[in-house]
Amino acid sequence: STALIVFRRDLRLVDNPAWSAACAAHAQVIPIYIHAPGEDSPWSIGSAGRWWLHHSLAALDRRLRAQHAGLHLRQGDTLEVLRELVRRSGADTVYWNRLYEPASIERDTRTKSALREQGVAVHSHPGTLWCEPWQIATQQDAPYKVFTPYWRKLRTLLQPVEPLPEPVVPGWQALSGSLPLSALALLPRIGWDSGLAETWQPGEDGAHELLEIFADDAIGDYAHARDLPARHGTSRLSPHLHFGEISPRQIHFELDLRARAIDAKRRPDIEPYLRELGWREFAHHLLYHFPHTPTDNFNPRFDGFRWAAADQSLIERWQHGRTGIPLVDAGMRELWHTGWMHNRVRMIVASLLTKNLRQHWQHGARWFWDTLVDADLANNTLGWQWVAGCGADAAPYFRVFNPVTQAKKFDPDGTYLRRWLPELAAAPLALLHEPWKDEALLKRSGYPAPMIDLGQSRQRALDAYAALAR
Ligand code: FAD
Repeated sequence: STALIVFRRDLRLVDNPAWSAACAAHAQVIPIYIHAPGEDSPWSIGSAGRWWLHHSLAALDRRLRAQHAGLHLRQGDTLEVLRELVRRSGADTVYWNRLYEPASIERDTRTKSALREQGVAVHSHPGTLWCEPWQIATQQDAPYKVFTPYWRKLRTLLQPVEPLPEPVVPGWQALSGSLPLSALALLPRIGWDSGLAETWQPGEDGAHELLEIFADDAIGDYAHARDLPARHGTSRLSPHLHFGEISPRQIHFELDLRARAIDAKRRPDIEPYLRELGWREFAHHLLYHFPHTPTDNFNPRFDGFRWAAADQSLIERWQHGRTGIPLVDAGMRELWHTGWMHNRVRMIVASLLTKNLRQHWQHGARWFWDTLVDADLANNTLGWQWVAGCGADAAPYFRVFNPVTQAKKFDPDGTYLRRWLPELAAAPLALLHEPWKDEALLKRSGYPAPMIDLGQSRQRALDAYAALAR
């Protein structure tokens, strides 16, 4: 018999439950990708994500070709395309791995029942997370809203499990009508993407290379170095995880295996890293149970918060890394150039936008959505609501990051600042963190004066939060 396998954000052949199940049960398989960004509305894939997707689809197709198969590429309404392919191929079963965004759940539920009505079997598999979002509940059988107890519970369920091997393709049915990748028009028309190409290798091979580098060089010092933006102290696996080029199960198994090969005294502690993957699970747990949170405050008390009126010129200065606050500008420029930003710096730029500038967190979430290669509805929503203070288990409202203190603490020798702010590269360290202290430096370098007074704006934010608390 013949099966269709719909690849979505599971762009890998190893440890892919839907792909393995289909290859095991059918004589012929047809791997397909259907580009339907409108079906994810209002969170259709952003520009940096499209760049990644293009290269990841190319990488997946290359891997399939090594097995004498190929990816059937289509564009259009998912259900219509599947109906047509079922009819033309004679397939009796459709496979996919589950997604958890509200729009995807709605689409998949509808597609599944329509195909079943037509007599086509549909199998959905868990391939994205360690644990399905509904598998973990409090003693009262409610969703968790606080990370630490959630993680405690999840951790008891996690064992290193050997990943599924890449299955042998039983037989491939080549169907006519596959689009060339270029027809999806995922790449930008104006070439702003050279920084992305310098930084990343989308696809399974790129993911495993990063995992190896991380496991060899960084995991042992992760708990400390993960806060230092100048260092490669984190795994940078986020875009690969988002597009499903690697699974948490693969990462866990590999790190555990390597750690156990090292004698107990020098063995790296992998727990702090697993815990961060736990935040990814928690974000998906929250998105699944509270599907309104990408646009609405998790905590409804914040619905009465007095945001400042949207100020496009302020927002643009923030977006373009021209705020005059070095750590914020360095982060925003890192984002623009590479499609990624260090986690600590994400918190700081988000705090400046939502607290010092009191712009609604949605403005920031939208900009990240378009510019991050790892833009992920669950993680991005959690991150922004956490910083703004309106999320589940959020940062307390009075926590306004001070970007100067943070830079002195986490980038003490200014390596990160000099890397992303070339106009300040020659500034002495004493001024690098606070260039406004020397007007001549600002004039000479062209670096802008700060757009706000950090102290006063902090106080205004605290006052607004205090008004909310009353
Ligand atoms: P590592 O430190 O190597 O962590 C490993 C993995 O754990 C990450 O790849 C990621 O999948 C997960 N992870 C780590 N920290 C978090 C976290 N705080 N929340 C959820 N998952 C986490 N992450 C995204 O993947 N997509 C986003 O769109 C996104 N938006 C964010 C927005 C804001 C305002 C903030 C503060 C954080 C956001 N994050 C987002 C979380 C975090 O910054 C990134 O996951 C992390 O920087 C990715 O780098 P890494 O792979 O080297 O992380």
